[in-house]
Amino acid sequence: MSLTERDLKVIWHPYTQMKTALPPVPIVRGEGACLYDENGKRYIDAVSSWWVNIHGHAHPYIAKKVAEQLNKLEHVIFAGFTHQPAIELAERLLAILPDNQQKAFYSDNGSTAVEVAIKMCLQYWHNQDIKRTKILAFNNAYHGDTFGAMAVSGRSAFTAAFDSMLFEVEFIDLPEASNIDALKSQISNLKSELACFIFEPLVQGASGMLMYEVEYLDQLMAHCHKEGVLLIADEVFTGFGRTGKSFACDHLQAQPDVMCFSKGLTGGTMALGLTTCTQYIYDAFLSEDRLKTLFHGHSYTANPVACSAGLASMDLFLELSTGKNIERIVNRHQQFALRIKDHPRVRTTRQTGTILALEWETGTDTSYFSSLRDRLYQYFLDAGIILRPLGNIIYILPPYCITDDELSYIYSKIESALEEL
Ligand SMILES: *Cc1c(COP(=O)(O)O)cnc(C)c1O
Repeated sequence: MSLTERDLKVIWHPYTQMKTALPPVPIVRGEGACLYDENGKRYIDAVSSWWVNIHGHAHPYIAKKVAEQLNKLEHVIFAGFTHQPAIELAERLLAILPDNQQKAFYSDNGSTAVEVAIKMCLQYWHNQDIKRTKILAFNNAYHGDTFGAMAVSGRSAFTAAFDSMLFEVEFIDLPEASNIDALKSQISNLKSELACFIFEPLVQGASGMLMYEVEYLDQLMAHCHKEGVLLIADEVFTGFGRTGKSFACDHLQAQPDVMCFSKGLTGGTMALGLTTCTQYIYDAFLSEDRLKTLFHGHSYTANPVACSAGLASMDLFLELSTGKNIERIVNRHQQFALRIKDHPRVRTTRQTGTILALEWETGTDTSYFSSLRDRLYQYFLDAGIILRPLGNIIYILPPYCITDDELSYIYSKIESALEEL
């Protein structure tokens, strides 16, 4: 039996239309920006394996560091115990985050990093006997698949089966020149109820790489702070260079109170989540009263092997060549966007740093639209490129080590898709 046949017997895949989806592609090995299937066919990973990979697959340096750690200590309970990799990763990360970030709380993925952030903010007020219990979020937001993370995400097809069970959240539109004043008064009207505002800074990934401007986010954040509302920057996707700077918050003047990280944190090697916060949030839990504890901990919290992958990834991230690669991708994306922006099939292109999205013009033909996503996906897969369009939106978001030739090949295949499909 082939791997695909065996898979179909036992595996339930995420985000997969079970009756109509193509069988999964068995991948046996990865190197640089490429993955290889069991027949040796090469695929360029243009989506960084669901946005996690930043230095390429099976990176020898990360592999070496992980192996060394595995031979020393694979895991230890993180309540009452600690270890070097967790401490060092927190120290090194806090050193490059906005100055006000002072404490690091580990979990195991992006959704849990968000759950922790929400709980920190709600309990921050609870511990002080102040009744602020509402959360503010953006329409179309995506913060993860667990219940709390779903609740602060926009209501959509992803959440439909659970909508009645999700706690109430105040949703606002992305800020722009035309609505910023209205948004501010909306926040002022709710201020005494609002515990926190959670947002994906500058780019809403899952909802279609929607981008918005630094200036208006800055204004919104400053206004929230003026009204005493805590700010959670969910940098699970935008962290570690994606937006052209180390973190999306590096583009901003205002500083968030809480930050969430996961995807790029270990370079895409292992699952790890991290929530950082300010000293005053931490201090609201610092007490002899047991009820003021943040009761949250996962079995694999701060797993030493995952932390050592994070440290190895950090070494690579801080190398001069990584910054140069990010700059190179930003420039190449810009040139490509210029080349295709006037194509009749391109409705619009948008770019923030290494993230380039293009919206496919679908006109009024809805049948064309409904099959478009699957046809695009298959077209690129046949060409040896992994691109996973979100509806009619194609986006490229490669590992930073992608070569110029690989980028050129992706661009040329997008151009031929524009002609052929
Ligand atoms: C992917 C994502 C999450 C969820 O992370 P998981 O590791 O998939 O649980 C949360 N927030 C944002 C902005 C994301 O893109």
